[in-house]
Amino acid sequence: MKIICIGRNYAKHIEELASEKPENPVVFLKPDSAILAKNQPFFIPPFSNNIHYEVEVLVKINKVGKYIDTKFAHKYYDELGLGIDFTARDVQETCKKKGLPWEKAKAFDGSAVIGRFIPKEKLGDLENLAFKLYKNSELVQDGNTNAMLWKIDELIAYVSQFFTLKKGDIIFTGTPSGVGKVSENDNLVGAINEQEMFSIKIK
Ligand code: MG
Repeated sequence: MKIICIGRNYAKHIEELASEKPENPVVFLKPDSAILAKNQPFFIPPFSNNIHYEVEVLVKINKVGKYIDTKFAHKYYDELGLGIDFTARDVQETCKKKGLPWEKAKAFDGSAVIGRFIPKEKLGDLENLAFKLYKNSELVQDGNTNAMLWKIDELIAYVSQFFTLKKGDIIFTGTPSGVGKVSENDNLVGAINEQEMFSIKIK
């Protein structure tokens, strides 16, 4: 399976990082080795002094597809989840300045937290889905899919022009504002509609 990630999909997050608003979705990949094993802590890697959390809504692809039309994209997923796109922000800043690829900052081991999934019919309006990240019980990211620049179905249509989607692939749909640094002993809890989707200890 592969993990396809979208960057810069929320205007306020683009502002907080002083990034440029893209004309098209920003897309990058994480390998399957990036997945943080279930119930395991996240270990801060030695190559970074500034690991950021980015909470994101996840889409699990349910069948193979290529050149998917936006109006049929809903047929390609039955479940949504929540996860974290851990980012070595210091490494990413260096890559951005030099115009280099982002993999070392985004695709390292443990950088993809994949929480549980919920059938989409149990979630109500997918274009008005509230999701949150708490750090040590404090609300740090307060998102809603209604603020996405590109909606889930548009993202599926866009990325499937470049990559054949396969059953089990996961799309990270971008983070809202409020990203920040993690430190040892932090605890991160993600929720959709106040239902807990994951809990991660930082080591
Ligand atoms: Mg992200």
